[in-house]
Amino acid sequence: MNEMSPSLVDIVIPLPKTVDADLASDIEKESVFVSPYIERIVVEDDFASARAFMKSDAPLEEVKDKATRYLETMSKQVSGFDVKVYLENERSDQGSYLADANLALADAGWLHDYGKGQVAYSGPVLKLARLIDAKAAEFYLERLDAEDGHFPALVDAETLHKCGYFDSHPNAVTFVGNMLEDFDAIEEFRVANSCSEGALLPPQEHVHVDGMCLNPAACFPCYPTLKGRVLEKGSCFSWLGRVFRYESRNISGLERLYEFNVRELVFVGSETFTHESREKSLECVKDLIQFFDLDAVVQTATDPFFATVSAARKFWQQAQEVKNEILIPVARADGSRKVLACGSINLHGNFFGTRFEIVGADREPANTGCVGLGIERWVLACFSQHGLDPDRWPAAVRERIF
Ligand code: AMP
Ligand code: ZN
Repeated sequence: MNEMSPSLVDIVIPLPKTVDADLASDIEKESVFVSPYIERIVVEDDFASARAFMKSDAPLEEVKDKATRYLETMSKQVSGFDVKVYLENERSDQGSYLADANLALADAGWLHDYGKGQVAYSGPVLKLARLIDAKAAEFYLERLDAEDGHFPALVDAETLHKCGYFDSHPNAVTFVGNMLEDFDAIEEFRVANSCSEGALLPPQEHVHVDGMCLNPAACFPCYPTLKGRVLEKGSCFSWLGRVFRYESRNISGLERLYEFNVRELVFVGSETFTHESREKSLECVKDLIQFFDLDAVVQTATDPFFATVSAARKFWQQAQEVKNEILIPVARADGSRKVLACGSINLHGNFFGTRFEIVGADREPANTGCVGLGIERWVLACFSQHGLDPDRWPAAVRERIF
């Protein structure tokens, strides 16, 4: 055990088996949810052990046991699946990638990071965000007849439960808390804050959580609206959704926000209809990538499920090829490259059709699929690949955003 800093100590825990780079990165990312005492777990260079950094007042044995169980659970994942590439594009812009685009956009005065996973933006950043969204909406309307709609940002726990969210991503949920409907509790809160220097939160017993949540996946609010509908022919729906995921200490610039926007497309109908719609949506994604002139790949992927369900679900997703991801390279602050998952294309089988009683022409539960484009990640990717010089941008984009 080493002394890292006055407040952190670290211990090395052997992994049950050697892991690959992908799994190592998942282990590190999800490690913020292991214990309030654990700052982070980092996989060692040998990929056979991990180092847990914990607060110096941590009950060592208890926290070590938790970290060991977490590492054992995560290590059960099967890796080495063949990746299937659906499409690949190379940009025509020959300029170099912009290192740390987040910082450059903030310096230009177009981006304000509040520091807790929410951002404000204006000028070319806002215009680009709107253009990405509008272009995707235009392609979906043209090719899939998906009219624009609107859905709320609040979602009730019953809907999330039906969507299986508590079972797959329990760590990412945000419950909305409200003041108790109690005259004295409300007055106590008011008085405490009326003359305090900073915000004083009410005691936990004066806050109730009744099951309203902030929506964590754009497509969920769509399914309750289709309940009981018999879809004789397949239908497509599209909208700009506001999405919230509690990412804890993983938040980082435009790429990992607590609150972000997703251009969503949902297709509902027979199995054939959803497969055809997926094909058409891939064409839309291809045109979008070309419109913004981006290096990008679309390939098979898996969701970052919570540790205990991760192995089985990821295996299933890989084997069935039900999730594809749009991967777009960006430059890190030191100039090295990494890929950002800027969107996903998913087939759900009849999972939502069954849960929400959506019926197809054959009176069986309908099949569904969805495409979610993370708008802020697309913005970051575009600025990372084309920089701040308008001349490097495709003309059709340049004239709209600068
Ligand atoms: P998913 O439904 O998990 O595939 O998410 C849809 C898209 O939302 C992803 O492909 C990302 O582009 C984007 N996204 C997911 N999580 C975040 C986040 N924390 N911050 C910003 N964008 C995100
Ligand atoms: Zn979706």
